Amino acid sequence: MENARIERAKASPTCRCGGKTVYFRAYNGESLCSKCFNDSIFEKTKKAISKYDMLHYGDRVGVAVSGGKDSTSLLYVLSEITKGHGTKLYALTVDEGIDGYREEAVKNAERLAKKLSIPMLVSSYKELFGFTLDEALQERSEKAIKTSSCAVCGPLRRRSIDRTAEKLGVNVVATAHNLDDVLQTFYINLYSGDLERIKWLDPSFKSGAANEEFKLRRIKPMIEIYEQELAFFAYLNNLTFQSESCPYMNEGIRTEIRLHLNELERKHPGIKYSTLKTALGIASSVVLDPDRSKKIMRCESCGAVSTGPICSVCQTLKVVS
Ligand SMILES: [Zn+2]
Ligand SMILES: [Zn+2]
Repeated sequence: MENARIERAKASPTCRCGGKTVYFRAYNGESLCSKCFNDSIFEKTKKAISKYDMLHYGDRVGVAVSGGKDSTSLLYVLSEITKGHGTKLYALTVDEGIDGYREEAVKNAERLAKKLSIPMLVSSYKELFGFTLDEALQERSEKAIKTSSCAVCGPLRRRSIDRTAEKLGVNVVATAHNLDDVLQTFYINLYSGDLERIKWLDPSFKSGAANEEFKLRRIKPMIEIYEQELAFFAYLNNLTFQSESCPYMNEGIRTEIRLHLNELERKHPGIKYSTLKTALGIASSVVLDPDRSKKIMRCESCGAVSTGPICSVCQTLKVVS
């Protein structure tokens, strides 16, 4: 509360353009009107795209849209900034089958895609794997298996997106991971000693596995934007999104790290941004065992490109079906 008062005191009532301030960016002391705030989000996205060479002329880009604030904003921003760049956008939505939760988000995503004239394809766990996430997690509980909900859902979601991308002939998949998401993932992998997954955070790292399968490039255009700013962006642009979080969301270590980073940022504005720089620097300097990163393995069960003899999807399927 004390800090919020100080922040308000620091903010100027007017933006540098003369407009009325609606947002105070504590990490660089900028007071921004709604137009300048919006422009800055577009600029930050464009900057990341060019810095990491994310998009090329003629790309067919599948935007993974869940209907939450981040992916809704991503779809909106990409549709604006790719105009006239020969880029074709598609919205890829996964219906995991979470009763009473997913339906609304899918509807929101559909509405926005229609408004932006972006074709949308919804794939479902039910049609792809034969069960809903609700059913899979029920099965897991009955078998008393300890795998977390997110660990069950993650690989299935990724496979769903890949299959849809393949169907549409998409060569790039854009996800809405923001600065906070990437930092949290960095810490999770740091604490669990997973150097390989830290390497995966490097935007310039062409992860062998997924790329080889159908030459798919994975990009995170919002990697340099704070989660808090994306929430404000969605609100400012009247984007309808699902604000309720997933009922299966893990209250695990990610939540602890999120709270910790938010607290640090509150006391030391800008610390998340500088930590991201360090994290990406570490990611880019990690050298993986060359034999391991070059060799493309195929899953013995389904034939998909995999980092081990059995892919993560087939491992998951064994657990829940
Ligand atoms: Zn302004
Ligand atoms: Zn497999």
